[in-house]
Amino acid sequence: MAEKKKFQAIKGTRDLLPPETELWNRVEQTARKVFGTFGYGEIRPPIFEPTELFARSIGVDTDVVSKEMYSFPDPFDLGDIYAQYQLRESTTPGAGQLATIAGLLPDSQLIAARPEATASVCRAYIEHGMHALPQPVKLYYMGPMFRRERPQKGRYRQFYQIGAEVLEMVPPNQDPAKNIGKDAAVDAEVIEMVMAFFARLGLEGVKLEINSIGDRDCRPKYVELLRAELLKVKDKLGPDSQRRIETNPLRVLDSKLESEQGIIARLPKIADHLCANCAAQYTEVKRQLNMRGVAYAENWRLVRGLDYYMRTTFEITALGLGSQNAVCGGGRYDGLVELLGGPPTKGIGFAIGEDRLILSLQEAGKGGAAQGRDVFVAWMGEKTQATAIAAAQKLRAAGLRVELPPVEQKFGKALGQADKLGARYALILGDDEVATGQWTVKTLADGSQTKMSEAEFLEMLRKGL
Ligand code: AMP
Repeated sequence: MAEKKKFQAIKGTRDLLPPETELWNRVEQTARKVFGTFGYGEIRPPIFEPTELFARSIGVDTDVVSKEMYSFPDPFDLGDIYAQYQLRESTTPGAGQLATIAGLLPDSQLIAARPEATASVCRAYIEHGMHALPQPVKLYYMGPMFRRERPQKGRYRQFYQIGAEVLEMVPPNQDPAKNIGKDAAVDAEVIEMVMAFFARLGLEGVKLEINSIGDRDCRPKYVELLRAELLKVKDKLGPDSQRRIETNPLRVLDSKLESEQGIIARLPKIADHLCANCAAQYTEVKRQLNMRGVAYAENWRLVRGLDYYMRTTFEITALGLGSQNAVCGGGRYDGLVELLGGPPTKGIGFAIGEDRLILSLQEAGKGGAAQGRDVFVAWMGEKTQATAIAAAQKLRAAGLRVELPPVEQKFGKALGQADKLGARYALILGDDEVATGQWTVKTLADGSQTKMSEAEFLEMLRKGL
């Protein structure tokens, strides 16, 4: 006999179950509705992509790409490699040799489970020539993302994001200074849309923080200045920050280490080092947010983890999430499409952590009660089954949630089950009801019982919907 094995979900992944999935569905439906009112269409990119796409866009020095990405050789390509090895060496590679070969494969021969979707959306924009569509192209997506992080509350290895991107090809010879006002309005509207979505869901304790991290002109100069200042205080920093002085000094500003806070507070601030265009755009974003009634706080330390951001960055936190309280992150990424081989294109977008959004709604008591049934059809007597089936069909066609037991049950058992399922009404059908056409309807909340015709019952339920 085969050994009995108990399978479990892989670490950092989980099953989403009813009734919680009802909340997930409500969140997703609301996103579709709200984003639709802003003129966005849905894109569903694949879940795996070439590893190179992420390496190039997110940046090879980021944690997401260097440590957290599920990147692997396509097993079928590995088959080819295996065969080539056999041919060349006249011997079969062992598991160790195969692992070594796989480990040495360049990114160009690997595929990855997507750690985020902005790169995919940009790839799709290029692949489908969307620059030829009326600009800007406004897209939203939702689905699972994969990062090999240390799992904890609000942090998973398979997690879900709801995101949106606005992409706009830059016409040739456009003066970059000329469109600052327009870009700022686009940024502000994207932020306004996320806030409208959160408001519609009743998310509590929502706080929006914004910043500008400059562009290709002014950011490198600021980063150098920051690096020089950090080197002066290197001894006082922890090992992570010390490493980041070399790899990515901006990320030091992200540090949550208590001992580093005083030092960071005295570092030069990017707002004082923005070039004229970036400064003008940042001022205009703030004016636009005010005009739209969107409240925000400025946070000069908000740098975001991914390399491709420029100018406007923002992050939103919500109630009840502990240390993992960021529920949405976003920013502008002009130049990313070009980096991926497309035409010069502006971009701005955000990604909401859906798992965290759900957690926050649940913490605030907005999870919603378990959905029961509207009607439990308690039928007794073999001849009654056909009537019970017909009744269930009509009720379901009217959009009601109906439980129809597959076999007849004793009266007491049927009512007990109706109660357990949280049904509002039990429709009691026996020989009498079938003969007279007068149904017995029991309201489970108060135990009252009345007789009525099928039409009357349907009418009563419709009114209560
Ligand atoms: P990012 O793509 O890193 O900018 O993240 C955007 C949002 O996705 C964050 O604000 C989180 O809400 C969510 N998020 C990122 N990583 C995870 C994870 N491992 N588990 C759950 N949510 C995540």
